[in-house]
Amino acid sequence: MQSISILGSTGSIGTQALSLVRLHPDKFRVSALTAHSNAELLFEQVREFRPEVACLTKEIPLGAIPEDVRFCRWVMGPDSLKVAAAEVPADMVLVSVVGIAGLQSVMDALHAGRQVLLANKEALVTGGHLVMDAARRAGKPLLPVDSEHSAIFQCLQGAADNTPVRLLLTASGGPFRTWEKERIDRATREEALKHPNWSMGAKITVDSASMFNKALEIMEARWLFDMPADKIDVLVHPQSIIHSAVEFADGAVIAQLGVPDMRVPIQYAMAYPHRLPTGSQPLDLFSLGQLTFEKGDEVRFPALRLARQCLAAGGAACTILNGANEAAVAAFLQGKMPFGAITRLVEGALDRLGNLPAENLDDIFDADARARRAVAEMLPAMVG
Ligand code: NDP
Ligand code: MG
Repeated sequence: MQSISILGSTGSIGTQALSLVRLHPDKFRVSALTAHSNAELLFEQVREFRPEVACLTKEIPLGAIPEDVRFCRWVMGPDSLKVAAAEVPADMVLVSVVGIAGLQSVMDALHAGRQVLLANKEALVTGGHLVMDAARRAGKPLLPVDSEHSAIFQCLQGAADNTPVRLLLTASGGPFRTWEKERIDRATREEALKHPNWSMGAKITVDSASMFNKALEIMEARWLFDMPADKIDVLVHPQSIIHSAVEFADGAVIAQLGVPDMRVPIQYAMAYPHRLPTGSQPLDLFSLGQLTFEKGDEVRFPALRLARQCLAAGGAACTILNGANEAAVAAFLQGKMPFGAITRLVEGALDRLGNLPAENLDDIFDADARARRAVAEMLPAMVG
């Protein structure tokens, strides 16, 4: 029996992780759950999974907590994430909050010696060097949950001391894969939220449409697998069956395949090194017929080019890209601007701020705040 704390339990990843706990009550029990604004769903989860601690990062009055869920300890406010990440005893901590809030939580969990299952990609994007160093010191390598990185991690099992010479990061291409640049620029919220293959939270779905998601994933892979960016290729693969692949010195390429279902990589991290049933459909290659591949287009999807530029620049460039993108996506989701403005705002923030240091967490949070401020200042010019 393994105990797990889930940070962001009300989200897309968090609820799927809980569905696996529900499927395997003899294997997992829940230590702590955290939510931000969805208190009602958190109450239901506490009723069902009976954690020791429940946290709401957006405070509500203690009187608003229903009687029947008061058996556990309730902690409120942004600092409550630390209680769930580091104070409550647990064998594993799944960090599945969205955004840069994940960085501090990952560091807290690693400093407490916890095994981190990492869904939150922003932690590595913004503080990759600090996170990897903390994981090394803790002697607890991160277990990736992001499907591409889980695929690469799975491909590397049994690779002995052979390090790959290249990573092939697959991408569905999102809903705008075949669209002309002008049409992408004018796309609406509804169009961006229609992902062809994966069902995910709103922010990452928009990032898949702009390919900022793949930009963040190049950065994530760079840190997780210590691979230079020029050895990480983006392979657009619209069927999302190959979840990524690795190439070795002898030319052999090993890939991981399956239906697009996040329960598989979540399960792999939770049960590692074992595999458990997930409720996912088996892969039927006969009915698929064929798998296709294209090159990622850096003209229609400038995020891919920006990712490589920011990695080459070092410092806090990736943090600026990430913070500006988060702020721009939030404005887009509020219907304040057209889709193309997301990229213009990120490029604008990078131009305005140049590069900034990223020696420690304070530097990173400062660069993130400055990127968001830069977007807020440029936003009025994008409206309409
Ligand atoms: P969701 O938006 O569905 O869920 C986010 C979770 O984080 C919710 O529990 C939410 O609480 C909580 N949250 C939101 N804001 C804050 C905050 N400021 N502080 C603390 N908690 C907060 O996101 P996803 O589950 O889609 O994604 C989570 C992470 O996993 C992201 O980093 C994403 O990039 C990554 N990921 C997701 C994949 C997916 O398939 N969804 C695939 C690969 C990676 P509440 O709902 O109560 O407001
Ligand atoms: Mg992914």
